[in-house]
Amino acid sequence: MDRCNLTILNEPGYEWLAGFLAENQVEVVASLPCYLEGNVDKQRGKGVFQRSIEGLNQLNELGYGRTKALSLSLVFNPQGPVLPPEQSGLEAAYKTHLKDAFGVEFTQLFTLANMPIKRFGSTLISKGEFDDYMALLKGSFNAQTLPGLMCKSLISVDWRGYLYDCDFNQQLEMPLGGASKPVHIAQLADNVAGAPIRVAEHCYGCTAGQGSSCGGALAD
Ligand code: SF4
Repeated sequence: MDRCNLTILNEPGYEWLAGFLAENQVEVVASLPCYLEGNVDKQRGKGVFQRSIEGLNQLNELGYGRTKALSLSLVFNPQGPVLPPEQSGLEAAYKTHLKDAFGVEFTQLFTLANMPIKRFGSTLISKGEFDDYMALLKGSFNAQTLPGLMCKSLISVDWRGYLYDCDFNQQLEMPLGGASKPVHIAQLADNVAGAPIRVAEHCYGCTAGQGSSCGGALAD
């Protein structure tokens, strides 16, 4: 599974990437935080929406989102410090709008809560909203989400081959399984089986409300 930044697909020097993913039948999960250009560019930067659409067109031409073997999932996350809406209703709106406006097709939509880390976390701190958002996540804890958390069955691999319990821990440079040093994929067999999962406050972002994972919502 590739957590794909759609804009990389039309970055000079990376023209080979979409074809490589298709050839190896890699499942693609790509962030598109809204189907409206203004909202995406506001959140991700000017021009990101158009470049993402170009990337999606490229993937569609290769069969992504159109054939069973090439799964293309999009990820929605809210614009601000609120929980995401119900997944299936929003997926229908995404499908209609992206198909009608750009001819884009995709397999499914995942709705994820914003993690209180990195750029989003910094924005919350600068606006004085961090504590309220953490209180919302903690107050919305849903134990039904626990069995499906992605860290229980998947690992995240960075571009150098180092391993993490999930891509959020990867962003925070928290090595796999509570190890003190980064664990490389070459050591996989020694380190993964039965290893504990490294959790911290940001994990409440995965367990709030309907839950969030790289497979989308985890509970009703
Ligand atoms: S953020 Fe925490 S709960 Fe969510 S997938 Fe990563 S380790 Fe698991």
